[in-house]
Amino acid sequence: MRKTLYLRIIIAYLFFGLFGFFSVATVISRITMEYCVRDKARLLYGEATHISDTYATDLYNSRVSLEIVQGQMEALSAYMDTEIWILNPSGRMIVNSRQAPDPSVETFVEGFDSTFTAGNYYTTGTFFDSFDKEVLSVTVPITGSFKIRGYVVIHMPMEKVRRDADGILNIAYMELVLLIVLSLIILLFFTEYVYRPLRRIIAAAEQYALGNMHYHIPVEREDELGYLAASLGYMADTIARSEDDQKKFIANISHDFRSPLTSIHGFLEAMLDGTIPPERYEHYLGVVLAETERLTKLTNGLLTLNNLTTGGMLLNRTDFDINAVIRSVAASFEQTCRTRNIHIHLVLVGKILFVNADLEKIQQVLYNLIDNALKFSRPDSDITIETTEKGETIFVSVRDNGIGIPKADQPLIWDRFYKTDLSRGKDKKGTGLGLSIVREIIRAHEENITLVSTEGVGSTFTFTLRRSDRNDVLNEDGESEV
Ligand code: ADP
Repeated sequence: MRKTLYLRIIIAYLFFGLFGFFSVATVISRITMEYCVRDKARLLYGEATHISDTYATDLYNSRVSLEIVQGQMEALSAYMDTEIWILNPSGRMIVNSRQAPDPSVETFVEGFDSTFTAGNYYTTGTFFDSFDKEVLSVTVPITGSFKIRGYVVIHMPMEKVRRDADGILNIAYMELVLLIVLSLIILLFFTEYVYRPLRRIIAAAEQYALGNMHYHIPVEREDELGYLAASLGYMADTIARSEDDQKKFIANISHDFRSPLTSIHGFLEAMLDGTIPPERYEHYLGVVLAETERLTKLTNGLLTLNNLTTGGMLLNRTDFDINAVIRSVAASFEQTCRTRNIHIHLVLVGKILFVNADLEKIQQVLYNLIDNALKFSRPDSDITIETTEKGETIFVSVRDNGIGIPKADQPLIWDRFYKTDLSRGKDKKGTGLGLSIVREIIRAHEENITLVSTEGVGSTFTFTLRRSDRNDVLNEDGESEV
């Protein structure tokens, strides 16, 4: 494809050149010749009319002698490079500028017929075989007393007309050559500024097709081709990055699946070969059960994340009371709170606070955040869940007094499978998917989530939600707002 594009342009260029020469040599040449013939004929006609009105009329009226007219015609024809005849209506030669007719011998133009011009005042040819070469002849009648008394005929060799036409044609040829040279310059520019970069881009596309996504396109320009190269490079970069992510993702999944499977396999084998005595079965079966729970959690997390990220998340937005949702999600952790003596404080705006969001997904966000807060809190500590209202935005924050998240880890905790070193000892069951799910849900709502955390002090996760208009209706009715 590469070759043909350039080849086509070259062929088009050659065709353009050849066609240019061909058209100048044929059509333009013919038009020029016709124009020159008409132009010369008009000139000769003017001259012939003048002769007819002056010299010829005077001659017929015997106001001037034949010799004088002959002499004047000779001078005029030499000046104009023509041959001037004065003929009788019958075709007898009276005056011939080239050679004065012998008065004793009557010379006729054989077959002369004044009507042969057929309405045209000029003809081209040999004029009744009077010439060997082609001539342009103009015939003008000499009139007197309402009759035609003769004709003035002026001949000009067609060679002379052709010479004039060739002069004009030469200018056309010169212009054509100039045009071809100019278009050659354009072609060179095209080659350098369009074709070569295009080839480089195609070479890069081929490299990308072969899987070499790190190939750099050597086109650094600020025009459309530069933009195309940059876009292609960006695309390849994104694909390369997503391939890397994919590999990392699979490596992480494999690792996270392998460790529980290895321990399940190990314990079961030990039970079968008797390494673990039957009285310890209950304990180890409990461990195996916990590991299977972790596997289930991991699979569910992956499925949720996959559902959230493939093909964009479909939100089922409704107006619901966020305070009620916070209360119910917090209540689901009652048992854990009791065993670890952790208190969840709710600091909520009003009794009812409507937001517009996907209820189930926001429940999931709250669940993951409170679950984390509990996991990483010390026993006998407090967790605070607070809502605040600022204009049309509702802020929901989950604050714990737990282990905190080191500064360096803070940007990374949103990545799939990421767990801080601090947390590994505390939460062996963690999958590292919880916060990725939270981020995807908040993103889909076009809202924000932020983290403020200090190592050893605690963490606060705050996300925003859109306030629902239903609050205003309620306030007007005086139903809510404490
Ligand atoms: P996990 O299932 O491991 O909790 P998450 O994606 O929810 O996965 O969290 C990722 C990591 O972020 C956790 O493993 C932990 O290291 C850190 N983290 C999340 N929430 C907190 C918190 N409230 N306090 C301290 N560390 C946290």
